[in-house]
Amino acid sequence: TPGLYIVATPIGNLNDLSFRAANVLKSAALVAAEDTRVTGKLLHHIGADTPMVRHDEHVGARVRPELIRRAESEAVAVVTDAGTPLISDPGYRLVREARAAGIAIFTVPGPSALIAGLSIAGLPTDRFLFAGFPPPKEKGLRDTFAELADIRATLAFYETGPRLARFLTVAAEVFGPREAAVARELTKLHEELVFEPLDRLSARYADAAPPKGEIVVMIGPPLAEAAPSGADLDAALRTALAEGT
Ligand code: SAM
Repeated sequence: TPGLYIVATPIGNLNDLSFRAANVLKSAALVAAEDTRVTGKLLHHIGADTPMVRHDEHVGARVRPELIRRAESEAVAVVTDAGTPLISDPGYRLVREARAAGIAIFTVPGPSALIAGLSIAGLPTDRFLFAGFPPPKEKGLRDTFAELADIRATLAFYETGPRLARFLTVAAEVFGPREAAVARELTKLHEELVFEPLDRLSARYADAAPPKGEIVVMIGPPLAEAAPSGADLDAALRTALAEGT
């Protein structure tokens, strides 16, 4: 069926490409890729020789009209280097412009580092807020965290190894005591999840060499005020009765 197919690709382990994603990439007339070398390897892996065109933030404006024109009569697949397009990745303008042009848009869902991280952190996931890449400098971090501090939801960020220590130092200051997790190299050989109180996590990375690889940082919601235990309530009740007020 003609249209624009937004296709998720692996975030490390090539076997995470879905059967449907492979079929769409093989049968599409054209694949719009963030980096054609990266996507070329993926296509080679599945034995596809679909033509590719570069679509990233630099050339996007120039190639979008052509992609949309092709999608009127053919299947055009859109991928990024890893994970789900549009999630801290190119594709937003293309989807909007294609929709405005009356093109059918289909999702071919699959891996995203955000969801992969949340799925193993063990932090509350009934409500979460994805805040993408935080600002790099301390002032920007502080302002961003202050804006998020009252939200009763798990917060998730994309971060890089060299910036992680500063991120956690400022986060521990602004958010105070919370649970937190650092997910690194998900689906890859050195996949790691560290779950600790935020201040401990901050101390751990402050003293170490910057971790290698790709990172999702998750910070739990504000901790509930410690609820009085049943024993405390019984004792309070006995005291009140004894006082006989
Ligand atoms: N669209 C992608 C997705 O759906 O996951 C995210 C693209 S964004 C440009 C790249 C960032 O995602 C990395 O800097 C890192 O924070 C995170 N990321 C990607 N792959 C990862 C992995 N295997 N493990 C941990 N984080 C990853």
